[in-house]
Amino acid sequence: MSTTTLAEKFSLIIGGEARSANASFDVINPSTGETVGEAPEASIADLDLAVEAANAAFKSWSRLPDDELQKACEAVAAQIDAHSEELAQLVTLEQGKPLNGLGSRWELGAASAWAHYTASLSLPVKVIQDNEEGRVEMHREPLGVVGSITPWNFPVMIAVWHIMPALRTGNTVVIKPSPNTPLSTIRLVEIMNSVLPAGVVNCITASDGASNIGSAMSSHPDIRKVVFTGSCSTGQKIMRSASETMKRLTLEMGGNDAGIVLGDVDAQAIAEPLFWGAFINNGQTCAALKRLYVHEDVYDDVCKALVDFARAIPVGDGMDETSILGPIQNQAQFDIIDRLVKAGAEQGRVLLGGQAQDGLFYNPTIIADLDNHNPLVREEQFGPALPIVKFSSHAEAIALANDSENGLGGSVWTNDKDAAKEIAASMECGSVWVNKHGMIQPNAPFGGVKKSGLGVEFAEEGLAEYTDIKVIFY
Ligand code: NAD
Repeated sequence: MSTTTLAEKFSLIIGGEARSANASFDVINPSTGETVGEAPEASIADLDLAVEAANAAFKSWSRLPDDELQKACEAVAAQIDAHSEELAQLVTLEQGKPLNGLGSRWELGAASAWAHYTASLSLPVKVIQDNEEGRVEMHREPLGVVGSITPWNFPVMIAVWHIMPALRTGNTVVIKPSPNTPLSTIRLVEIMNSVLPAGVVNCITASDGASNIGSAMSSHPDIRKVVFTGSCSTGQKIMRSASETMKRLTLEMGGNDAGIVLGDVDAQAIAEPLFWGAFINNGQTCAALKRLYVHEDVYDDVCKALVDFARAIPVGDGMDETSILGPIQNQAQFDIIDRLVKAGAEQGRVLLGGQAQDGLFYNPTIIADLDNHNPLVREEQFGPALPIVKFSSHAEAIALANDSENGLGGSVWTNDKDAAKEIAASMECGSVWVNKHGMIQPNAPFGGVKKSGLGVEFAEEGLAEYTDIKVIFY
């Protein structure tokens, strides 16, 4: 299979072959407004071909012995490592995040860690009973074709989160990346295909136009599961259209994570981890800290320490090796952030930023003295704008934090272990971190409660979501 160079026409990857579509759309570098490359505009017929190829490949892939599946997944992980810098550059060009800091090279490092760890996992047969009355075994069976639908914030890392557990459990994949960041996924799938049988992983790309490919995937009769990462509203649509075919679903959706800072903290010491909890990937992160609740005893100190740290962060073109934060990825997201910042500035005190910059740049913004009803607190900003709310008792902080439709992550910041335990137990979310935020890892299940999602990813629990249970009674 041929390799693709930058700023050219990219192809669909179907059945192990690069395949052109009848039309294409431009992918724009958010730092410069320049065209990075042309992505193929897949039709429903292209989707059908990709599903057919994945279904055909499933017949032999799903029957491979477990150790061969494991070896094949290791080979895929090694290919990701071998192409890490090339993929990082492509992520920066189309997504905007810097090469450095917690940017695209970091994303590729995480993709590698998840790929290797997922390859190492297994779901052995569980013997439920073995006595004179008989033997009962629980087997995990692959499902068939998995449809993966990904967002634009971590295009390669999230693609790896979806593809690797599907492959490890004997499924085949059709992935559809976000139209904002399709090129790095095409290239990732091309790289994977260099060590996989034809049709095991296929990639189709399309804009969210009239023939919505994501929507067609979620009702496709030959796709057995959809794994989706993206907004709550799209996840709800997928759930509705998947019901007809009773698809298995994993939905990782939006979050509006609260961080609760208790009165005993050292403001200077927590400023850096607090900042990165909120501003990683310019805040365009599902489990970023999106609402900060600070005890009145340390409120002024925490506000000041956070602003001092944030002020020194260089924002610029992602390809510039000195940039630590880049632009907002797209205009629609930029407009959401700008609207919410304006709503925050009307009520609160702007401590830093608060103004749109040239192009899609928006400097880190911190707004204090808000209440829980302000739109910047209530809605997911998904950008570099942090609202701060003051509280005076633990019970008040917990009530404010839990007053949300979302429940992805949350954090508590304190040196008091008992208080941390008590607050962690009371927070309504899938993950709670103590003195850090958003630190996911491949061996810990990750998912949301309430409207933030359905099911989990990572670890054995995430792997199991790519299987059906079959119990055999001897
Ligand atoms: P989005 O929901 O707009 O798009 C996500 C994907 O869904 C894209 O590939 C898009 O083309 C596709 N899509 C659009 N309409 C569809 C439909 N009707 N049916 C099926 N697929 C469809 O989300 P986005 O703007 O790309 O990403 C931002 C959102 O994603 C934020 O809300 C963020 O919190 C969330 N997110 C969540 C996680 C998580 O793990 N929980 C991770 C990253 C992003």
